Amino acid sequence: MRIFKNKILISSLFVLFVVITPSFIFSIYQYSSITDEEKVINDVYKNQLESILFSINQYSVDIINGWVNNIDEYILSQTDLSNLNLEEFLDQNDIISQLNINDVENNGEWLICSKIDNPALNTFQIEDAISNNSKQISELDNYIKNDYQKVIGVKAIDSSEMVFLFFRSKSEKAQLGVITIKAEQFILENLSPRAQQVAEGKMNILVYNNKNKEIIFSNSLVSDLEDIQKSNELWLFPDYSIGVELTGNTLNDLVKQRVRTVIFLVLLFNILILFGIGFLYYNVKKELDLAKIKNDFVSNVSHELRTPLAMISMYSETLMMDRVKDDKKKKEYYEIIQLETNRLNGIVNNILSFSHIENNKRKYNFEDYYLNDLANEVIHVYKHELLNKGFHYELKLKQDLKAIHIDKDAIKDAIINLLSNSIKYSSERKQIDIISGEDSNSQFIEVRDQGIGISEKDQKQIFEKFFRVSDGNLAYKARGSGLGLSIVKHIMDAHNGNITVKSKLNTGSSFRLVFPIIK
Ligand code: ADP
Repeated sequence: MRIFKNKILISSLFVLFVVITPSFIFSIYQYSSITDEEKVINDVYKNQLESILFSINQYSVDIINGWVNNIDEYILSQTDLSNLNLEEFLDQNDIISQLNINDVENNGEWLICSKIDNPALNTFQIEDAISNNSKQISELDNYIKNDYQKVIGVKAIDSSEMVFLFFRSKSEKAQLGVITIKAEQFILENLSPRAQQVAEGKMNILVYNNKNKEIIFSNSLVSDLEDIQKSNELWLFPDYSIGVELTGNTLNDLVKQRVRTVIFLVLLFNILILFGIGFLYYNVKKELDLAKIKNDFVSNVSHELRTPLAMISMYSETLMMDRVKDDKKKKEYYEIIQLETNRLNGIVNNILSFSHIENNKRKYNFEDYYLNDLANEVIHVYKHELLNKGFHYELKLKQDLKAIHIDKDAIKDAIINLLSNSIKYSSERKQIDIISGEDSNSQFIEVRDQGIGISEKDQKQIFEKFFRVSDGNLAYKARGSGLGLSIVKHIMDAHNGNITVKSKLNTGSSFRLVFPIIK
């Protein structure tokens, strides 16, 4: 049986391994693929944000290029730059504060058209900017040779507002042109509506000053630079950056949410599998335990039947062959046959009772009867067996106990079961007492022995059907079906009473049947 149990343990472990391993690998795969997927989604998403920012930057370049084109076409149309009338451009365009055109034919003097109070100071700053960014500005020549009129934005050193937009004129007479504009006004008037259009309410686009982190405009009333998902410098306005933040759930939130859901599902899945395996193990084990119980039961009962049968057959044969001459001996043999027949009767009775109980067919016939009378009747039948086996017994019956409403045959069976257990499970101290008594609302009858006793742990199980204690020499050797006490318990339940046990290992046991008295 042990080998059998090990087998189911190994099978369960195997099933556990076979089922859990794939789900475990799946969990790990899911977890790692989440980070991979997250990276891919993040990349795609960042690219999209990048292209949104790119489109807005490109939009500002397109506007400025438009201005530059207009101005340059006008310059190209002039044969003599000294007649240049740039007022028109300034009047038409609110944002342009000053225009500087390099008059090459006039020693590179600046042609200036301005709305600012101090155009000379502004021009001075433009020259400063040219010397500080000479390399970049000289590169404009190379671009124009390749037919690309690039514009460079440079911030005025002392003014936070002004930005100089340098371009290379296609006219050799002019070469360098500079548009001075107010950066923030440009951003507010030109970029803000565009950003609004691109965002479509799905995201928040904002432009802020890189240095003091002041927000110049934002689609949303509540903006926090910390929430920006992606930002880029404005190409033409080096002091400013444009950023985008998601309204509602950010991508990170979504990914985290997904990771949480997937992990939760995987865990749930694993727990369900474990639960299933546990359930399977429990059921298989229960079946196997039942098979073992049946096996033990058959072998125990056969043995219990065989012993009295062997005795009966042996003594009756001896008597039949007339080998015993002594009358006393003969009487003794008859008594043994009688005793063993009783024993057989008891075993068969127990099995029948159990089968009736199991099929809910056990019927009880209640009548008023005396517990003391039952005790005397049982002792009358078992007296010889007790004395033959070397037992001392004592009846400690409370006098004048009133009759109670019981099924006398069933209770007699119960007492016989307790008594034969006391006989079976006593070894050195062979003393059995049968005690009766009462208190205000119950009567009881108790069978007390000084036998091997029952451990506290086993006391909890002895009333279960088929349960037998297998520790200890005598408990192991003494045969039985494991049905006796479960039958007694059933009988007591039918009487609305109960059975209690007090026992100590190697000291003895007392089983008490308690009957409530309904007044
Ligand atoms: P069994 O046929 O094995 O005696 P029972 O249901 O009558 O079945 O008892 C269950 C178990 O309780 C027994 O196997 C035995 O180990 C233990 N037991 C019952 N009565 C006694 C007792 N008087 N002393 C010690 N052990 C007892």
